[in-house]
Amino acid sequence: MPAKTTKNRQTGTRITVGDAESLGHDPAENAWYTICEDHNTLVGHPTATLARSHASDPAGWCEICGDLWDAKQKAGDCKIIGRLVKLVNEWGGELRLVSEKQYESYCDGSNPEYAEAPFSSASLGIDWEPKLIVYTARVEWFEIIHEMGHVFATTDGAFDDEIDEEFDFFGWEFLVAKRVKGNLATWIKSQSDYCVTDPEPDPEEVKQVSASYIHTADFGCLTTKQQTEMIKERIRHAVKRGTVRRTPQGLIPVSVR
Ligand SMILES: [Zn+2]
Ligand SMILES: [Zn+2]
Repeated sequence: MPAKTTKNRQTGTRITVGDAESLGHDPAENAWYTICEDHNTLVGHPTATLARSHASDPAGWCEICGDLWDAKQKAGDCKIIGRLVKLVNEWGGELRLVSEKQYESYCDGSNPEYAEAPFSSASLGIDWEPKLIVYTARVEWFEIIHEMGHVFATTDGAFDDEIDEEFDFFGWEFLVAKRVKGNLATWIKSQSDYCVTDPEPDPEEVKQVSASYIHTADFGCLTTKQQTEMIKERIRHAVKRGTVRRTPQGLIPVSVR
């Protein structure tokens, strides 16, 4: 069977799949190969199926493709954060990037109003009154969006990580992610640990939201269909609360402060 070269959609590099013999390799070592033609790297496999499945993910085995892909992702994430900075400014707040060292001064107790995000992978927090969100370089864009929810999509004042409050702006977060062109599959994945279990369910809400998921699980445990259903329901909820507006251009998340 002749080797076949295709352009990979993710990395744009030319990837060849072929059996050892047609590629001029010793079949005793590996029967099949996946080759990155652009970077002259290859990986051997016992079966054709494995060789083909590797063709779709050169970033996973070609080191240079991997580095390029990481850099591309990083640049994309920077663009998203840039759009968040603009949005926060539009809403009269500030998204402030600080070093880890500088960040310490926010948490030293000198500002009792400063609240740290409890579940973030890196240093991140908010001061609700001046609409300030402080973040460090390793914070993910979807984590910033969540904190924005606490600042712009609630009028309650105090930073309060209780589930019912957070649950109010879940749909809003999704629409902010969409507005700043964040990858929505990434956003959905980032919500895997989001607890959709309400400790004290409102009976009316249970009726509306479909009892199948609201009291049972983490978002990541739901089926894709349930996740979609929940996002849609949360968006309707946000429209009702006034944090999302229906416009001729579609559903627009807004600040209520
Ligand atoms: Zn490569
Ligand atoms: Zn929160």
